[in-house]
Amino acid sequence: MRSKMIEYSDFEIYIHIPFCVRKCGYCDFLSFPAGQDVQTRYMEALKREIRLTGEMLRRQAKTVFSVFIGGGTPSVPEEGQIAGIMQELHEQFSILPDAEITIEANPGTVDLSKLRSFRSAGINRISIGCQSMHDSELVRMGRIHDRAAFLESYELARKAGFDNINLDLISALPGQSLQSWRETLHAAAALEPEHISAYSLILEEGTPFFEQRDTLQLPDEDTEREMYEETAEILSQYGFQQYELSNYAKPGRVCRHNLGYWTGVPYLGMGLGAASYWPAEPAGADREEQEKTWMVRFRKTADLKSYLHLLSEDETAQIPEESDSYELLGKTGCMAEFMILGLRLTDGVSRKEFRRRFQNDLQDIYGGILQKYAAAGLLHNGEDRVFLTRRGRSLANVVMMEFL
Ligand code: SF4
Repeated sequence: MRSKMIEYSDFEIYIHIPFCVRKCGYCDFLSFPAGQDVQTRYMEALKREIRLTGEMLRRQAKTVFSVFIGGGTPSVPEEGQIAGIMQELHEQFSILPDAEITIEANPGTVDLSKLRSFRSAGINRISIGCQSMHDSELVRMGRIHDRAAFLESYELARKAGFDNINLDLISALPGQSLQSWRETLHAAAALEPEHISAYSLILEEGTPFFEQRDTLQLPDEDTEREMYEETAEILSQYGFQQYELSNYAKPGRVCRHNLGYWTGVPYLGMGLGAASYWPAEPAGADREEQEKTWMVRFRKTADLKSYLHLLSEDETAQIPEESDSYELLGKTGCMAEFMILGLRLTDGVSRKEFRRRFQNDLQDIYGGILQKYAAAGLLHNGEDRVFLTRRGRSLANVVMMEFL
């Protein structure tokens, strides 16, 4: 992170906990198993990074409206470790009293006592990795839990006082039929969580699934599209509204943190490999120059050894950074990103908000593209908002590519 960070008063924080019991077959996240000793050292280093970041922003009016503790599996470290992180965050940042504070957890890594300790630390939302309600699918994915273990974790989370729960589900799995996906959706929705994220499996290079791609029995494209289309229909029967391409919530329960990502709100990421998105320091008074330096995106080192070394007690503490992952974003790139992310939302992009952010009219910048896709029936080009139609959501990638 650069030491000259400009003032920004409303932002969100992402904390990365990279530990998992073992690696799932489809996973390309920065995550791995590690012993207790490494986990403890990591949590100490992370606290130090939070402290150093807080000190850097000390003189600024900073208000955090959302914290997301993700991974990896943040429920892997021993009880009390996450509370230590939360305490450090509260000491260094002004987190709004009604901030959304989410932790990701996986079945098989939580008990009632640990879940209660999350609640006492002020965490008010939990996202549980359910993925499928079929044991055979869970085994094929390499998950560490079965359906019964998931159900137990879900009940324990309720018992611990979580009244805002997300369930993660994955469709288009090897060997999965349309019927088994329907059953997963019905069973998950019937539990009445507040939120469901349902993503299609993507084969990422470097994962065991990618290596086995020729032998995996994946659903064909038509089945995958039917799975996607039925997801919104089935979940709506249980009172879930689709508010993003892959996210569904009960009224008033959208994920504020992710909504921040999709609407271009700045965020600070702390922990191994964590990314941040922050307003850039204006480059001089010249408008053209300023427009070349609108935002910056930077990523912490993904190398555990370097991370621990740079933040170790006996070093002059430094915040780890990889200079080659420091990317300066110009206004044009930020406008394109604003459109691509905003169109993921069912409500789409607000013309007024676009003008407020960029001091330009949406029509002047993207009028041609909007007209083209409105004529094709993929986009609603309204007076106040621009959003994908139902058909447009199935072909979202085609529309989004135009903004690149
Ligand atoms: S639990 Fe999540 S982060 Fe960990 S290996 Fe599995 S998919 Fe990856």
